[in-house]
Amino acid sequence: MTSTIKTDVLVIGSGAAGISAAIKAAHQGHNVLVIEKDKYLGGTSAISGGWGWLPGNKQGRAQGDTREEQVAYIKALAGDSFNEEQVNSFLDGVPEAMDFFEQDADIEFHYADKAPDYQMDAPGAKVSGRAVTVAKTDARILGKDRKRMQPYLMAYTIFGYMPEIGKDMATILEANVSLKSFFYTASKLTKTWVETIFTGRSFDRTNGNAMMTRLMYAAQQQGVRLWTSTKAEEILRDEDGVVTGARISGEHSGVVEARFGVIIAAGGFSRNKEMRQQYFPHDPNGDNHTSPVIGHDGDSYFLAKPLGGHIDNSVHQPSSWGPITPFKDTLRRDTYFPHLRAFGLPGLIAVDREAQRFANESLSYHDFCIEMLKNDENREGTYAWIIADDKAMKRYGIGWAKPWPLPQALWLNDYLKKARTVEALAEKIGLPAEKLKATLEEFNKHAAIGEDPKFKRGTLPFHHFKGDMKHKPNPNLATIDKGPYYAVRIGMGDLGTYSGLAVNDRNEVLDTQGEGIPGLYAVGTAAVSVFGGGYPGYGANIGPALVFGYLAGRDIAQHAAERAGHRTAKRGITQQDLAAQTVPLNGSAEPARV
Ligand SMILES: Cc1cc2nc3c(=O)[nH]c(=O)nc-3n(C[C@H](O)[C@H](O)[C@H](O)COP(=O)(O)OP(=O)(O)OC[C@H]3O[C@@H](n4cnc5c(N)ncnc54)[C@H](O)[C@@H]3O)c2cc1C
Repeated sequence: MTSTIKTDVLVIGSGAAGISAAIKAAHQGHNVLVIEKDKYLGGTSAISGGWGWLPGNKQGRAQGDTREEQVAYIKALAGDSFNEEQVNSFLDGVPEAMDFFEQDADIEFHYADKAPDYQMDAPGAKVSGRAVTVAKTDARILGKDRKRMQPYLMAYTIFGYMPEIGKDMATILEANVSLKSFFYTASKLTKTWVETIFTGRSFDRTNGNAMMTRLMYAAQQQGVRLWTSTKAEEILRDEDGVVTGARISGEHSGVVEARFGVIIAAGGFSRNKEMRQQYFPHDPNGDNHTSPVIGHDGDSYFLAKPLGGHIDNSVHQPSSWGPITPFKDTLRRDTYFPHLRAFGLPGLIAVDREAQRFANESLSYHDFCIEMLKNDENREGTYAWIIADDKAMKRYGIGWAKPWPLPQALWLNDYLKKARTVEALAEKIGLPAEKLKATLEEFNKHAAIGEDPKFKRGTLPFHHFKGDMKHKPNPNLATIDKGPYYAVRIGMGDLGTYSGLAVNDRNEVLDTQGEGIPGLYAVGTAAVSVFGGGYPGYGANIGPALVFGYLAGRDIAQHAAERAGHRTAKRGITQQDLAAQTVPLNGSAEPARV
């Protein structure tokens, strides 16, 4: 049915950025409608680790983290792409946004004892006090809406159970060396399976799913309307060029009139082949990249383009990168595994098609991919192989391929390659055998004494965080010398684009003249990243999504008020509305349908 819906604020996209904007705007007393084109709510944010890089949070402040250090660090990573206005807006927003989420939206942040910045050798880097996660939560708080949430990325779970980052995950990773951990893991899996069998989905939600469950709960509490399977098709504006709403299609179709404006939080463009061809130098044919993100089809850009919206590509990396393995799972279904931790562990290395190591494997996934891109710059395609021996495979596994005692047959159908000797493995995966042997010999010579003179792996706290803290003498290094040997192919992937809609420090989308388009905002991966192409630490996408989402929701009515008086009056916004921002305008949070 085609209809006209009236609301105060329309948010497009239901990830961390969109829901943060929605709950803050609703908390100000405005009617808010969120539309989501997927059948589930939560976007990529719901399948993420749920880390938010939020420097200036209360833990960091208590530890003496200063604004000068934060700016110095971001500057070091952004280089020439440093955007002072945006960075200041982000850093100013962190404490206020986090107070709001904790006090008014009931979000329980976990302040990790240790979550080192990704570039510990850069000025201003910190070992802790910047990255946070959201505590595990029971999805039943959402009532019947609990199954509207985006499910987990199954390849990331252990048979359906998603370990919570921190103690839970550390315990589960010890399940094959400690009886206590084994029984702990068994009890988690049993609970997950029982709940799934009897109710369709487990109750405990962790990581990004916990964060989105909590945000969604806050949205419910604030009376935000959440429409799934509903797509924004076109942004509408009046004769003065002020954005008035959007045309939508799908389960709900028609026109949404949003008198304060529209917030685009519809993600980036890494699932759009043509845009990848244009903006990802490694993907000129659109076939050299796999993106695990949800719904990032470039809609944010296509919606804003007719109004002058354009992509700011000034960041030195167009996306936050992550190595990824596309493969067929045990049931021969197409799936993928993003390797965000796996190969900084002792006994695993990465080699290129010449069987040479080309990077420190305990770099962040983003920085490792930059090295992979450089290494393959003049070659067809971008890929590498993770190589491990039996010791590492049994103890840690390789990404999706879980370690002993789980049956290896589960992973061998496509994902994992195995051979008795180094030569046989090289032949199986098409690498020069003598070179692979030489690479391993050279690596082993130094790894045995905990050193990596070539790439300095295992020399910084961040490296250790990606390794096994209990492994001696170095958490990142062990010899690779006990057959059988294993390999997993990795290619280029991403976690969300960094290039994005050009915005100002009010989150307004800029037109071709560099002016803010009145009433149109972009937040999250829809907008250009505040970090200039660098990846500062755990949560480089979600941190800004939460903060800029919050700021856009906070300010949208104020901006509407600032617009020309005659225009504001014409659109029915009274000064009382704006003064009393904590009182629901229509006495109800339901958008009025006419
Ligand atoms: C496995 C994995 C782990 C990750 N872990 C982390 C982490 O721990 N920390 C971190 O910072 N980042 C992490 N990332 C990246 C991070 O999850 C994303 O970059 C971030 O969640 C993007 O947030 P967003 O709100 O911009 O977009 P999303 O959360 O993706 O939300 C955008 C939504 O908009 C919807 N949409 C698109 N077009 C339309 C339209 N026309 N109409 C209506 N709806 C539309 C999409 O369907 C989508 O649901 C991870 C990514 C992956 C894949």
